[in-house]
Amino acid sequence: MGQSLDPAAMENQGEKKRKKRKKKSKKSEETLSNGHAVAESEKKKKKKRKIGEENGAENDGAEIKTKTKGLIEDDALWKGVSVSGKNSEDSRYSALQAFSDSGLPENVLVCCKKFSKPSPIQANAWPFLLDGRDFVGIAATGSGKTLGFGVPALMHILNKKKAEKLKKAVPRCLVLSPTRELAQQIADVLLDAGNSCGVKSVCVYGGTSKGPQISSLKSGVDIVIATPGRLKDLIEMGVCDLKNVSFAVLDEADRMLDMGFEPEVRAILSQTNSCRQMVMFSATWPSAVHQLAQEFMDPDPVKVVVGSEDLAANHDVMQIVEVLDEQARDQRLFSLLEKYHSSKSNRVLVFVLYKKEAARVETMLQRRGWKAVSVHGDKAQNARTEALSLFKNGKCPLMIATDVASRGLDIPDVEVVINYSYPLTTEDYVHRIGRTGRAGKKGVAHTFFTRENRGLAGELVNVLREAGQIVPESLTKFGTHVKKKESKLYGAHFREIGMDAPKSTKITFDDSD
Ligand code: AMP
Repeated sequence: MGQSLDPAAMENQGEKKRKKRKKKSKKSEETLSNGHAVAESEKKKKKKRKIGEENGAENDGAEIKTKTKGLIEDDALWKGVSVSGKNSEDSRYSALQAFSDSGLPENVLVCCKKFSKPSPIQANAWPFLLDGRDFVGIAATGSGKTLGFGVPALMHILNKKKAEKLKKAVPRCLVLSPTRELAQQIADVLLDAGNSCGVKSVCVYGGTSKGPQISSLKSGVDIVIATPGRLKDLIEMGVCDLKNVSFAVLDEADRMLDMGFEPEVRAILSQTNSCRQMVMFSATWPSAVHQLAQEFMDPDPVKVVVGSEDLAANHDVMQIVEVLDEQARDQRLFSLLEKYHSSKSNRVLVFVLYKKEAARVETMLQRRGWKAVSVHGDKAQNARTEALSLFKNGKCPLMIATDVASRGLDIPDVEVVINYSYPLTTEDYVHRIGRTGRAGKKGVAHTFFTRENRGLAGELVNVLREAGQIVPESLTKFGTHVKKKESKLYGAHFREIGMDAPKSTKITFDDSD
């Protein structure tokens, strides 16, 4: 299928967008340039962070998702794709059957050589993205979404370069990620993909020195992959100019907003070119994300949903919930490791809630002779990166993690997830257990549930029932009440919040500055 890759056509479309957006972005523009709005939101954010630090909690909930298992080998994934938006039924947008259907040049398709065919999100996204359409993708990590937006981004840049004949590379594509680890993962994919066609990427994130990032930016880059806090700093320092960014991607948009990055995201987007093509990927579609899309996108963007917009526990995960005393957890963890990790070669991920807890559990396991690494916010970024890569490459397949490290990361073959501490929300529970049972494989999630968590018992019972899992009697003893039944799956936690509702005061932590 041939796509419209004509730079002039893309420019025309851009001109129309520019007018529509001028109005919208005016308000946000004020935000970055030392306005009161920034000062206010910064104050609020700092306050929120402070509360979180005092509580000792790590940033937010876990990460990965849901029903969408991931890779294209999973036929069920194809059946669950829905496409909507203006002219989306048009035949020129029909899903690609093969990479070659895209009409893209060889040097761009090199990065797809190792795959037999496009994944559902790639097959459905590329025709729209290559045609310059604004795009919302509801798809989980593991669905191939990085190349889903990455390949069209490369093509966009190559077309722009051809049309504008600018010698020096300038940022033309921006990818915003909520966490440093996800940003690095995206950068790895885009650096590799850009190699064969001469597109340069840089990854900027907090927790590490700005110098090398500034040098890379100065030496000329086409794609900036960034976490919001660090990028905002670099913009304010005048070393990152986004005015030529005409392809902007928000990855894990729901997570980004959950983490309290909304002011930064708005401020950053307002610095990009007003005729930009806007792409948003999100695992779920809460109203805050919807609102952001309405504000920064065409009125009727294309929306492709792979799987479900609701967060549902992956049915390939066997969920075992054990109600026990908090003090009994250490001993129980030792015996579970004997059971699940006796080979010491399979990947086991132990989730805890607090940074200090992560360090304590890691030390405790090491003293017991287990080789373990941990990823949490008290660690320097290079130590976090190192631990994660030891876990990923299998050199240390036992990892203790707070929720900060887990979102969006593509870690293959996690066999068992152990929830040593129950998360703060049911949604986080569903994300955590979704780290296993991916790509069509089966997984086990073993969860400790204590009396202190009893307020979430009702929702957990619903999750277990929905997934056809055993509901222990000891859990139902806490009651199966959920405050207000709003979600067809779990209850009140998943309530859609009205646009005019007061802002939540969820504790947030800045992972990126
Ligand atoms: P992502 O959702 O972008 O994090 O990708 C998850 C995994 O899917 C990565 O390991 C990719 O290498 C892999 N992947 C990406 N595209 C495809 C494809 N078309 N077929 C099979 N695997 C893919």
